[in-house]
Amino acid sequence: MNDHTHHGRAAEAAIPPDEAGGLLTIDLSALASNWRTLQDRAGAAECSAVVKADAYGIGIEQAVPALAQAGCRTFFVAHLSEAIRVRAAAADAAVYVLNGLPPGSGDSFARWDLRPVLGSQDEVSEWAAFCGANGTRRPAALHVDTGMNRLGLPVSEGLALTGDERLQAFEPALLMSHLVSAEEAENPINDRQIAAFDALRQALPGIRASLANSSGIFLPQKPQYDLVRPGIALYGGNPTPSHLNPMRPVVELAGRIVQTRTVRDGETVGYNAQWTAEGERRLAVVSVGYADGYVRAGGVTDAKRREGIPSGEVIVAGQRCPLAGRVSMDLIIVDVTDFPAGGVRRGDPVTLIGGDLTVDEVGRRAGTISYEILTNLGRRYARAYRNTET
Ligand SMILES: *Cc1c(COP(=O)(O)O)cnc(C)c1O
Repeated sequence: MNDHTHHGRAAEAAIPPDEAGGLLTIDLSALASNWRTLQDRAGAAECSAVVKADAYGIGIEQAVPALAQAGCRTFFVAHLSEAIRVRAAAADAAVYVLNGLPPGSGDSFARWDLRPVLGSQDEVSEWAAFCGANGTRRPAALHVDTGMNRLGLPVSEGLALTGDERLQAFEPALLMSHLVSAEEAENPINDRQIAAFDALRQALPGIRASLANSSGIFLPQKPQYDLVRPGIALYGGNPTPSHLNPMRPVVELAGRIVQTRTVRDGETVGYNAQWTAEGERRLAVVSVGYADGYVRAGGVTDAKRREGIPSGEVIVAGQRCPLAGRVSMDLIIVDVTDFPAGGVRRGDPVTLIGGDLTVDEVGRRAGTISYEILTNLGRRYARAYRNTET
């Protein structure tokens, strides 16, 4: 008998390292430490945690208890299904569903004691009617759109909620809006949104207010209000892209070398022959690909090299090495020519995220952002959770 089984959800969640192509190590102590850093920055405001998209890929079931133990009492997710998972992991927390109240879903919200983020007249009416019919003033957030043009009531409709009778039927527990470009501290849209939000707070006094995401917490205007809503910074992404990252890294990803080979000058490598060897090159083939969420756009082609477009790099034995050719479904190819012959061997680990190769840099090298790298982290990695605090 093996020490693991191959049926049911437990087996799916626990792939043994020696059977996986990649090893994802998630540092829950760093996650908790990041939350405390953000709570410090938030001052008198409450620091919540945004744990949508499976806590940005790291796992709701692991992240939520670690954050709750650090002192986090309020969580945000996108969907009802995610909220129910948060409720199972944090019995007493306030749990908000950012994507709002799907038609007819009141009973599910009530059953799990969840809070919809109401962003339209229809949602406000439906929640008021549901609470009225049940005789319970259940809490919900009011979401007003101050510039994103995505979810939320227009500012004019938000201002007009003053004295609206529907707000008697439920408990407006939070007045919130979302910043469009908080990572650009100089962008004048921040001031415009803050001014609109201040007007809303005056029109709707007595409701706790929340505007800031991760980057918003670091804006010079300090729009912390009563509650801040960090996501990416908890998971190690840099909320201040033009400055040093104040957060600790949470995620490390390692692949394994399947084989090494040598190509001659002029030979091509990978699908569609987009990479050509200049002189004899030594290559290592690594057991992670786009099916693992290793973004295909990070591949290295002759055209990208010619035009100096940033593209994929990994760390082999402490040394930066570029990818060679396209990212395949289950494999990448790495140019390890700069190593002494025999220095890189089958079975050796390769760092894909970790050390000085941050999740932000990996995103940049794939033409995307850290958010997309994290939320795409694959399902077939062996996952190891570290927590030195418990
Ligand atoms: C995702 C999200 C956040 C968290 O944003 P980060 O940039 O990851 O900190 C906060 N508020 C809302 C409404 C969101 O959708």
